[in-house]
Amino acid sequence: CGIIGYVGTERGDDALEVLLGGLSQLEYRGYDSAGVALADGGIDVHKREGELSALKSALPMDRFGGETLGIGHTRWSTHGPPSDVNSHPHTDTDGQVAVVHNGIIENYQQLRDDLTDAGIEFQSDTDTEVVPHLIAQYRDEGLDHEAAFRAAIDRLEGSYAIAAVFDGREAVYAVRNESPLVLGVADNGYYLGSDVPAFIEYTDQVIYLEDGQFARLTPTELVVTDENGDKIDTSIKTINWDP
Ligand code: GLU
Repeated sequence: CGIIGYVGTERGDDALEVLLGGLSQLEYRGYDSAGVALADGGIDVHKREGELSALKSALPMDRFGGETLGIGHTRWSTHGPPSDVNSHPHTDTDGQVAVVHNGIIENYQQLRDDLTDAGIEFQSDTDTEVVPHLIAQYRDEGLDHEAAFRAAIDRLEGSYAIAAVFDGREAVYAVRNESPLVLGVADNGYYLGSDVPAFIEYTDQVIYLEDGQFARLTPTELVVTDENGDKIDTSIKTINWDP
């Protein structure tokens, strides 16, 4: 299973190409389904059970081009069988936010019951789907993207590497707890991945996110913060990677 995220800087590359390349580099981790979400004004989600080739052949390639921000996922299912609908990314009802997740949300049933009581209809059997609905709920209460993301994560118990994009292409938000997540810094953009191979083609400058740390990747900056929202001075490491 794996996660890839990308935000292009001024010199950004085509996000779809970066995401699909990253996912194929993460195939060795094992997966049963794959998907991507591209944010360029709205959010465009494509996902399929099966190999990456199934996702690729389902992508309407002629509709893409020029997007520079997105997230991708390979799923190793724990809650809900492999299927197109259970594949990630997952979205809220209005499609404001798309989320990918590796790990297990232990308290998802309680959260799902609460959200269902609040009138939300779930599309999938996954533990993950509570996350976009929680984020959307906090947004609807008036929180901005980052605050809504943090408030939703605060409700979760379990292990997770999570990345989210909102409609209106401004950033990729990410967090980790007991599940790996690495950030990459390059001239053409900022990356996140479950492991370095996801983006080693583009950069060997990495930041290892620690448990409880959040990241916000925008076209102009990468900011890492702690649970309280305080900025962390991260050190960028140059890694030697022999593919
Ligand atoms: N628990 C989530 C699911 O079953 C994520 C699995 C994963 O790590 O890929 O959809």
